[in-house]
This record gives sequence, C-alpha cells and structure tokens, in this order.
Amino acid sequence: MGAADWAARAAAIAVDGRAVIDGQRVEARDGQRFDKHSPIDGRLLGSVVRGQAADIDAAVRSARSAFADGRWAGKAPAVRKKILQRFAEKILSARDELALLETLDMGKPIQYALGVDVPSTARTIAWYAEAVDKIYDEIAPTASNSLAMITREPMGVIGVIVPWNYPMIMAAWKLGPALAAGNSVVLKPSEKSPLTALRLAELAVEAGLPPGVFNVVPGYGHEAGEALALHMDVDAIGFTGSTRTGRRMLEYAGRSNLKRVYNELGGKSAFLVFPDFGDVERAAKTVAGSMFFNQGESCNAPSRVLVHASIADRFVEIVAGEVPQYAPADPLDPATVMGALVDATQMKTVLGFIAAGRDEGARLVAGGHQARTETGGCYVEPTVFDGVLNGMTIAREEIFGPVLSIIRFETEAEAVALANASAYGLQASVWSDNVNRAHRVARALKAGTVHVNQYDEDDITVPFGGFKQSGNGRDKSLHAFDKYTELKTTWLRIDADKP
Ligand code: NAD
Repeated sequence: MGAADWAARAAAIAVDGRAVIDGQRVEARDGQRFDKHSPIDGRLLGSVVRGQAADIDAAVRSARSAFADGRWAGKAPAVRKKILQRFAEKILSARDELALLETLDMGKPIQYALGVDVPSTARTIAWYAEAVDKIYDEIAPTASNSLAMITREPMGVIGVIVPWNYPMIMAAWKLGPALAAGNSVVLKPSEKSPLTALRLAELAVEAGLPPGVFNVVPGYGHEAGEALALHMDVDAIGFTGSTRTGRRMLEYAGRSNLKRVYNELGGKSAFLVFPDFGDVERAAKTVAGSMFFNQGESCNAPSRVLVHASIADRFVEIVAGEVPQYAPADPLDPATVMGALVDATQMKTVLGFIAAGRDEGARLVAGGHQARTETGGCYVEPTVFDGVLNGMTIAREEIFGPVLSIIRFETEAEAVALANASAYGLQASVWSDNVNRAHRVARALKAGTVHVNQYDEDDITVPFGGFKQSGNGRDKSLHAFDKYTELKTTWLRIDADKP
C-alpha cells in the first residue's frame, strides 16, 4: 500500500475510545472523556475514556473475581498456551489496523509500526504462550524424611502502566509473562497513545481469554494511573516510564499495600568508540540509525557518544552526513524513516534541550530546528551536537527526542568513568577490535545490557532493564516470570515408620 492508501484508511478510521472492563466496552462511570489528537497533523482522532478511581476499582474487582474463581489461573497450562497463541495470531491478523492506529496515535512511521511494533508484540505473546507448559518447579535436595517443593504461583492482580513510545510492545512485555503465569491484568496505557491497547483487549477476548482477565482503563497518569498504583487489591505494578514517575510508583506502594513495584525507567546510554576499532564508518552509521529510530523516543537510544579524540573529527563528519536521510516526513508514507514526536509538549521539551545545548556551549553540527511546521504536526530535525561535556544538561538528562551528544575522550579509564557518570544505567556499547579491551570495558560498564561492536541486537529471549535509576525489574526472557509470580516453599514430612 502506498501513502495515498494509508491516508485514505486514516481518514476513514473510527476510533472506539471506551474502556474494556470484564470483557465489555464501557464508558467511564462519570462519563468523562478526553480528546485524542494525532501528532502527525493535529487532526482529532476521537475521544477516549478518562478513567478515574471508580473505573480502576471496577476493573480491579473484575480482575480479582477472574483470578479468584480460577477461570484463567485454574486452566491447564496447555489450554492457557493455546489461548495466548490464538491471541498472538489475532494480533498478526489485525496488523494493518493496529499499525495504523499506532502511527496515528503517536506519530511513528507506518513501515515500522507494520514491520516492528505489530510483529514484535505478537511474537512476545506467542513466546510466553510457548513457555507456559515448559517451566517446571523444583524439589529441594533435603533429608529423606521430608520433601520440600519450591513452586511459583501467580500473584493475582497485576497493574500495568506503560508509556507511549512503543505502546503495544511495552504492554506485551508485561502482558506476556503476567498472563502466561495465570494472573489477571489491569492495563493503564499512556494518555498519549491509548488506542492500540484497547484493541488488544478486544482481540484477547476474541481469542478466548476469559472476561476480566485483561482489562484496559485509559486515562491520565495522575488520575487513573495513580488510582491503580494506590489500589489496595493490586498485587504488583509493572511500570515502564520516566524515572520521575517510577519514583512515585515506589511511594504509592509504600502508601498503600506494599505491592511489588517493577520499574523500567529512563536511560542515557553511552556508546564508546575506541581508536582500535577498524570500521569507524560502521560505528558512526550504527549510532545514527539507533539514535534516530523511533524519532529518538527510545529508552535505550545511544544518546551519549564517547569518541576517542584521534578519530572524533571523522566520526562526527560521518554522523552529520547521515542526518539528511533521517529527515522527518509523512509517517503514513511507507518510505518514511522518521515521523512525528508524540505531541506538542514533547516537541517543546526537545527544542528546550536543544536550546540548552547551544546555551551551554555545545557545537551544533546538524539539525536543531522544528520541521514540517506547515503540517500542523510535531516534528523536530535529527540533531547532532559535538564538543559536549558530560556535565552539560544534554549529556545528563534523558531528552527522549532525536538529539545526539558527542563527547571526546583521551584514555580508556576516562571513557569508562564518563560512561558511568550518569544517574542511568540502561544500555551501553563498546566498539573495539581488541578483545581484551572489549571484555574489560564491557565488565566495567554499569548497564543492564552492553553491546560490543554493534547496537541493534535484541531478542525476546534476553532480559531488558537497567542498573541504577534506569529501574529494577527486567522485562523479557524467562526472568520476567519472576516479577509476576510468588515463590512458595511447601514442606512435607515423610514418615518412614508409618504403614
Ligand atoms: P511517564 O512517566 O510520563 O508516563 C508513563 C506512564 O505513567 C503513562 O501511562 C502515564 O500516564 C503514567 N503516569 C504519569 N504520571 C503518573 C502518576 N503520577 N501516577 C501514576 N501514573 C502516572 O513516561 P512517558 O513520557 O510516557 O514515557 C517516556 C519514558 O519511558 C522515558 O523516560 C523512557 O526512557 C521510559 N521508557 C523506559 C523503557 C524501559 O524499558 N526501561 C522503555 C520505554 C520507555
């Protein structure tokens, strides 16, 4: 399909903004809604339920009943597997619709919504479905007069709160393990991107997931989000979002029922290029591709590049030469690689960081301006600063937009110290052909994932999460089951003398 076909589909789209509670589409208890505009061109997409505490409470009650009567947790693992597999198939069948909703809602290019977000969401659900009947519990090596069983049990009701940058994928990283383990879920999507989550809940019901097991209540963070995180009958919160809000999640848990809180938060990932790496061009092109993907709105964007001074001029020149191909364009055109930022607020924030970079003395080598103003949408040019110092605002704070900072270093020790001098510790990357250095530096970096001589490798099979203020939990892989299950030990006495 070409741009015109997608535009025609977009013009005809009808948005259903009602919540999904107990398997039904419902209005807010008090009837409130909010308008949802597209960052592509400001068009009104429709209105969406503005959930409040009463709506969250209804969803949590529904989730609790579903859990308590065993309609999901009590099903045989093979049955849960089959239903989740059908859910994944339904997601793939709805590929065009979901991709279009995602693009219109948060501005990403349609080619990535189609080629990355939808298939990755389906694969995540399918992967956890497949795991359901392959995980065994343990028996401890105790004395012969007893048997100690170590089992994992679903927790009950999981509250899931997600951001807007990969709305479906972030939700799936929580839904997959939480549902596969037998829990019920109440999902609060971002108010900036609620549309696909609502469709996912409908597709899950169509796939056979019993009503009440997966509920979605859209709304604002300080209303629906806070109510969910404070709810006394929610057993755990799977949160992805900013470090600022992650802090609040911990407070909410402290103020309510000490629910488990798993935070997946922000990042300021360092990308270290040493002079002994032979292919500077590949390193420079990789950083541009990873940084500008998803408009720079990726938690793991390699936004702090540390380059050895001896190769820095060449590196900067190559990165700057890459910038034009990432120029923002119409997200509904399948050829577009950079779309719109999520909304005007985010665009203003990003432009504010660019101004801070200039004011604090960094050298702007590419971009730096708003783009496509004639469209009424929210676009910013891919932007590169050279001569950045690690203490500058643009090197310290997560910008969450297409802004790359290049910092020069002289020694390996300095590079490692600079990389670790950050409140965050989500990801990092080391570029060196010296295997000793690559290992040494990878070990020294305080980050949840370290890449060596590449950046984009990623798979559902490996954990994703951060050190320090980038969070505490790990999404993806079998480790994610730890977040949504309780570990129980059951001791049985075995009496050898009794007949
Ligand atoms: P955000 O913290 O503003 O919002 C995230 C979610 O929390 C939204 O659903 C929002 O409505 C809700 N929320 C906001 N305030 C709340 C409150 N007071 N109480 C309860 N809920 C509240 O973050 P964002 O701007 O939507 O997302 C961007 C952030 O997400 C970035 O920091 C990014 O790094 C992070 N992120 C992290 C990962 C990861 O895996 N570590 C992945 C993607 C995004």
